[in-house]
Amino acid sequence: MINDILNKEELNKEEIVSLLRTEDCQDVQLLFQKADEVRKVYCGDEVHLRGIIEFSNYCEQDCLYCGLRKSNSVLERYRMSSAEIMQTAKAIYNMGIQTIVLQSGEDFSFGGNDIANIISSIKKKFDVAITLSLGERDYEEYKLWKTSGADRYLLKHETSNPGLYPVYHSNQKLKDRVDHLYFLKSIGYQIGSGNIISLPRQTIEDIADDILLCRELDVDMASFSPFISSPYTPYRKRKNADLTFTLKVMAAARIVLKNVHIPATTAIATLDEFGREKGLQAGANVIMPNFTPNPYREKFSIYANKKCAKDNPLDCPSCLENSISLLGRKVATGKGQSLKV
Ligand code: SF4
Repeated sequence: MINDILNKEELNKEEIVSLLRTEDCQDVQLLFQKADEVRKVYCGDEVHLRGIIEFSNYCEQDCLYCGLRKSNSVLERYRMSSAEIMQTAKAIYNMGIQTIVLQSGEDFSFGGNDIANIISSIKKKFDVAITLSLGERDYEEYKLWKTSGADRYLLKHETSNPGLYPVYHSNQKLKDRVDHLYFLKSIGYQIGSGNIISLPRQTIEDIADDILLCRELDVDMASFSPFISSPYTPYRKRKNADLTFTLKVMAAARIVLKNVHIPATTAIATLDEFGREKGLQAGANVIMPNFTPNPYREKFSIYANKKCAKDNPLDCPSCLENSISLLGRKVATGKGQSLKV
């Protein structure tokens, strides 16, 4: 039965749900194997590295699952200066990583021009691609940042269930998020979206819809990361996502979405010491090492016990290369642009 589904070119919702419900060990292995084959065909053996700079943990939003939510008064907040951001960008570039991800909460203290100046300064000095992950911002700002040199925008939809979306995000609407993604695409950004796996009240059908929404949006990058509870949030006592289930979602996503970049996230490395290696064998082709300098790094605490670069061998450049080559893969040398261009 699972072989019939795995051999189909295009999967519908029921078939994706069947893959995600698979419990039989042999079938789960077949699922991972197929995802690995599809990854090899569409992405090759290269693993793309994206160096992340989490430059501000201020956020105007109050997402129920996130440690950066505005209501978390315990969290010590920070903003990196432009000089600190440039210094970190240099460190990433000097390690041979050619994509820099600028990430923050929805922090409007960094105005459109501030972000535009950071983008153009990085682009002037370093030959890199820039991904922005700054939440929902003004359409004019998206345009300004694109003309300043930004290449990609990551804006996860988190859940595609219109009934659940307002449960997690009191001030935001799913329609707006999707509209923003379409707009970003229309002005030339490579776009990334994705979900959080095993959020409270989420069903397996919802997750299949999340994968299908990524297909509908024709995303260039899709991130499926496990829910990990964060101590100062309403979901602090909720159960973390299961590793095998997370890998099944990533594998199903690879089979459905084919030529997109899929990261083995820091969150999966937090769930399991070898989570990222397992993710790379279940369809992933991207790793996003964290370069946020101390003392800021531990304060970007979206969830508990986040795996930090200093204690994760995958983030030391030579260890990273070794781990990847042990899997029979190699670190990519280019910028890792969209597989669709
Ligand atoms: S998920 Fe993003 S927008 Fe929501 S509270 Fe966290 S940082 Fe802010």
